[in-house]
Amino acid sequence: MAQRWVVAVLRHETNTFSPVATPVRDFGRVGPTDGPATGQETWRFYRDTNNPVAAYIDLAEEENVELDFPFAGNAHPSAPAPDTILDLCSEAVIGSIEKGCDALFLDLHGAMVTEGFDDGEGELLRRFRKVAPDLPIAVALDYHTNLSAAIVDNATVICGYRTYPHIDMYETGLRAGRTLIRALNGEVSPMMAWHSLPVLTHMNRHAPSMQPMQAVMERAMKAEADGSILNASLFGGFPLSDIPHVGLSGIVVADGNKDAAERFLFDLMQELWDKRDEFVFEVEPIEQSVAAAMGIAPGDGPVMLIDHGDNCGSGGNQDVMAVLAEVIEQGLENVCAGPFSDPEAVASLIDAGIGAEVTLQLGGKVDMPAMSLVGQPVTVTGTVRRITDGQFTVSGPMFTGVRMNIGRTVVLDTGRIEIVISEGRFEPFDQGCFTHAGIDPARKDFVLLKSRQHFRAGFEPIAREIVMVSGPGTCTSDYSLFPWKKSRRPLYPIDPDVESNLPSQS
Ligand SMILES: [Zn+2]
Repeated sequence: MAQRWVVAVLRHETNTFSPVATPVRDFGRVGPTDGPATGQETWRFYRDTNNPVAAYIDLAEEENVELDFPFAGNAHPSAPAPDTILDLCSEAVIGSIEKGCDALFLDLHGAMVTEGFDDGEGELLRRFRKVAPDLPIAVALDYHTNLSAAIVDNATVICGYRTYPHIDMYETGLRAGRTLIRALNGEVSPMMAWHSLPVLTHMNRHAPSMQPMQAVMERAMKAEADGSILNASLFGGFPLSDIPHVGLSGIVVADGNKDAAERFLFDLMQELWDKRDEFVFEVEPIEQSVAAAMGIAPGDGPVMLIDHGDNCGSGGNQDVMAVLAEVIEQGLENVCAGPFSDPEAVASLIDAGIGAEVTLQLGGKVDMPAMSLVGQPVTVTGTVRRITDGQFTVSGPMFTGVRMNIGRTVVLDTGRIEIVISEGRFEPFDQGCFTHAGIDPARKDFVLLKSRQHFRAGFEPIAREIVMVSGPGTCTSDYSLFPWKKSRRPLYPIDPDVESNLPSQS
């Protein structure tokens, strides 16, 4: 009889300091659904996409097995989600498992926190394991996973993305899926070893395309490619999360030999531990960064000012105005900036109408109680230049061709700065957020964006130079500003003298 497999998606990168709520209806972001997708919708949104689950679907077709895809939920990074999302996912998946299931293939994030569970993925896997103690389970995880015992103990094979920006999601599904299929066929018996170091890496410093991670990731990839182990993955971790298991981690899957998995894993983790100081990003005052940007010699293309302390791609509210205020203060000219999220300002500017000259309090509407920060608007005067519906089609390399909707959008022109203000929150990974509103960022001397890494997809090709600006907010790179309560301590670099938790080498 043909095998029957179950696949599911549940992804949320939780910034536990974020003031942005995560209702269940937000778990439908990949498609125009209200809430998570079930039934045939799951296929429609995920098939033939660059996602792990799309690889699982292709593998099921290759193996000619029956496949059920009962649940898909994916929300933008924000505050802890309600526990209901775990209930909805586990009920749907367990319902399907109980109809008969030979293997479960999951596409999870790895840094999900709910109101009741610090380890969302660990809790989900524990529920599946409880009803199906021997079920083979493959899991694909984001590079920003905070790995835990509950995740590893309740899975058979785990693989993580090896890129940031993430462009190998499909491939990660193939890696995890193929190893599980070999196990189902009796060709291999996966044994996993994992370790999590007490290290908070800085997200500006942990991409696998740059050192120190690059060299270690290459070793992991080489060992997987030459077959000396089945899979090896390293996780930069998601540091904006006040949970016990936050950290820099790795997992190795070896064939029937846990000692071999551990030896290789500890070797990789030792190298990461030895290079921990290279993961530190030095924060400098905003005034200094803006002045440095201003001092860059003229040339082709804009100088990019990247405010990474309030990036909605990591749970920021996208309305912290400190960096814009400094750009105004220092008198930069020929600037475009945004998109800032401020629905109230959008409404009043639309009321005022195109051509109206307006003075208003922009942004700063959202308080950030976890950071003890109160929203501070900036007073700006300008002319309403353009009003749009906020819709555009992505032409850059990330999510190419996808139709975006950032909510009603207004361009306010101060004479020196064209400020883009939208109702929604959008991390500017594509120039469309400006071009759809009649602004060509390539013709500006300065472009101010709220992003950390994903802006590179759409803006690096036009940038004369990139200046990272450490603005305040819930994504700050100054980790000493977070009110850590639940995380393990000591933790590098907030506690610089922390000792290694690796077993001593004999
Ligand atoms: Zn990620």
